[in-house]
Amino acid sequence: MTQPNALLSATGTTIFTVMSALAARHGAINLGQGFPDTDGPEDVVRAAAEALLDGRNQYPPMTGLPELRQAVAATNARFYGLQVDADAEVVVTSGATEALAASLMALLDPGDEVVLIEPLYDTYLPVVRLLGAVPRLVRLQPPDWELPRAELAAAFGPKTKAILFNTPMNPTGKVFSAAELGCIADLLVRHDAYAVCDEVYEHITYDNWRHIPLMTLPGMRERCLRIGSAGKTFSLTGWKVGYITACRALASVAAKAHQNLTFTTPPNLQRAVAVGLAKDDAYFAGLAAGLAGKRDRLAEGLARIGFGVLPVQGSYFITADFSPLGFNGDDAEFCCHITEAAGVTAIPVSAFYEGEAPGHYARFAFCKRPEVLDAAIERLAAHFAGAGAAPLTGRARTA
Ligand code: PMP
Ligand code: GLN
Repeated sequence: MTQPNALLSATGTTIFTVMSALAARHGAINLGQGFPDTDGPEDVVRAAAEALLDGRNQYPPMTGLPELRQAVAATNARFYGLQVDADAEVVVTSGATEALAASLMALLDPGDEVVLIEPLYDTYLPVVRLLGAVPRLVRLQPPDWELPRAELAAAFGPKTKAILFNTPMNPTGKVFSAAELGCIADLLVRHDAYAVCDEVYEHITYDNWRHIPLMTLPGMRERCLRIGSAGKTFSLTGWKVGYITACRALASVAAKAHQNLTFTTPPNLQRAVAVGLAKDDAYFAGLAAGLAGKRDRLAEGLARIGFGVLPVQGSYFITADFSPLGFNGDDAEFCCHITEAAGVTAIPVSAFYEGEAPGHYARFAFCKRPEVLDAAIERLAAHFAGAGAAPLTGRARTA
């Protein structure tokens, strides 16, 4: 019998779903899939509920409710000094996930090359390949995840149509520096290429790190599709409201992709996200400040147990090296092991790579209540203290 699409048939279920299911099965504290355990602002949620009752239940305009497009344009101006035409340069999508697919659809023809940076978010490669484009992967190396400039330059060539990258970055917690962004900008100009900028954690940076959209660099205004997510900015991940900011020429093509993917996004949620984006600066600063305390709480706890905790500049993920704990197995085995034996779930970092990957890092999400983080640390500490005498073996789990 004839077969359905080969690429999708060969694609596994996302690691986030797999690990959340495993966590549920074992009653584990889920620090795997990245979702806050406390909903975002009540006034935003109330605005969504009220909008359902005041007649906002039919198709909204295809590129988004005008009030949300205006709010996206206003936050671009407020935070980054970008002047954006709300009518022509914003496309509202069903989550950043759709925004990513729509942006790639807008740019790529079969045979085009796309530069991607590993570790990478799990939807990037399948979408690039479904479009018939060819990925060119460049790797960041732990512990500092610095951009390898010579390798990046070598990945660009005559067929390069675009780069796709994520800052602040999941899972590394890296925030791209102005110098690194400058290097990317130079390559885009030199090779006449575009950038799809996954900036879903734009408001979640720590210490002195500030998010810089590539779009704000000289010459980049017409080359970038900049993607944001209300799920991250308002701690409402189930809402799936995203937004693309791009010059008129690119936004109009991304709108065509959106027209063929979902056409519109629920209008009550759009209305509520517009209310959220109008919040004062204190809300946005408070989001990061609240998460900074959680980052420190989890980082200190993991370090006490013996993990090698890497620094986090942005996002709500910690990458931790578990090799000092003496576990005899890879990261997938480790994450299964701690779920089953310690009652805490994390994500194996190798899931963000294609092929050979570092095998001794686990990603922990810290967007959780302090008591949940404390309970997770307590469980891990008790487990690894008890296991101290006998070498831990991941392979024994499946034996
Ligand atoms: N990009 C990255 C890097 C993410 O971590 C996420 C979170 N799921 C997304 C895109 C997708 O965002 P959304 O939930 O708005 O589709
Ligand atoms: N972005 C979230 C993470 O990295 C989860 C997304 C998902 O479950 N698809 O954990």
